Amino acid sequence: MERLIDRFGRRITYIRFSITPRCNFDCIYCSSHISERAKSKEFNLDDIAFLFNTASQLGIKKVRLTGGEPLVRKDITDIVKKIRVNKEIKEIVLTTNGSLLKYLAKPLKEAGLSRVNISLDSMRRDIFKKITKRDEFNNVIEGIKKSVEVGLVPIKVNAVLMRGINEEDVIPIVELSLHYPIIVRFIELMPVKGDNFWKDHYMPFSEALNIIRGKYKLIKSKGAIGEVADYYKVMGSKGKVGFITPVSQHFCSNCNRIRITASGKIYPCLFSEEYVDIWESVKAKRRNELIKLIKRSVEIKPKEHGPIELDDRVFIENMRELGG
Ligand code: SAM
Repeated sequence: MERLIDRFGRRITYIRFSITPRCNFDCIYCSSHISERAKSKEFNLDDIAFLFNTASQLGIKKVRLTGGEPLVRKDITDIVKKIRVNKEIKEIVLTTNGSLLKYLAKPLKEAGLSRVNISLDSMRRDIFKKITKRDEFNNVIEGIKKSVEVGLVPIKVNAVLMRGINEEDVIPIVELSLHYPIIVRFIELMPVKGDNFWKDHYMPFSEALNIIRGKYKLIKSKGAIGEVADYYKVMGSKGKVGFITPVSQHFCSNCNRIRITASGKIYPCLFSEEYVDIWESVKAKRRNELIKLIKRSVEIKPKEHGPIELDDRVFIENMRELGG
């Protein structure tokens, strides 16, 4: 089998795929503009089957479906089934806001989904609404419980740290890991093109760590290989607590992924300006051309992204297209 290895010796085995830029939330930190044209550009089920059949022949072992909100696609369970038929792909995971999981967790598990990451930035209903502009807190909590119940585990709950907005939620979010087998991960806020939100609200992970240490004794714990988070455990808890630190300590040296947007652009890095367009090749089912383009995207993968806090040119072009 062919393998994808970049110029710095990193083996690419993981694709993050934004299956739609559409979303049923409107989160304050993700306020990327989506044109009407971009909204209608999504690969269909046959395209996705072709894309991942080809990718699986290049050593891709893990696929993450993201968005926008992946669960707004009506064919989401069929998408999972189509990817699942490729035996080389060992893991299919989903990043979701969780609002529709109470209905979809079971069919997704049956379709072959391995597990879910659920975004939840506050345990207070009013602050949740302020962040997402939707009153969906209770549905998300039900979605988390349903996912535990049907075995979409280990479940990861992702919370973006925002100074002045959700410091008070750090402890209640950590406490989810005490009682449930949930891996809670705090993510440092990243700058998105054209907004000043980041400058006002960025909070380094070390502050959250201090807040947690003020109440709980943390012990160092291990994550899976290739993980982007540092993990800890509150003594006696069922789950874990992790930190994803793209801003204060980037983790580029063990990056094993590329990103595909809903409109068929492969970004070799979340902060890349350069991309490779695979839309036409996938649509026309031109396999050799697609293989060449995927290889090209790996060839142009940068060694690392620049220091975000020092350089105003380092930002994410469009979060909903890229999928985080
Ligand atoms: N709708 C899904 C969700 O809510 O998880 C998937 C898409 S969302 C773009 C993927 C992840 O990116 C979420 O965990 C979200 O919190 C995170 N995210 C979005 N904007 C961010 C930013 N500016 N900084 C850090 N994380 C961000």
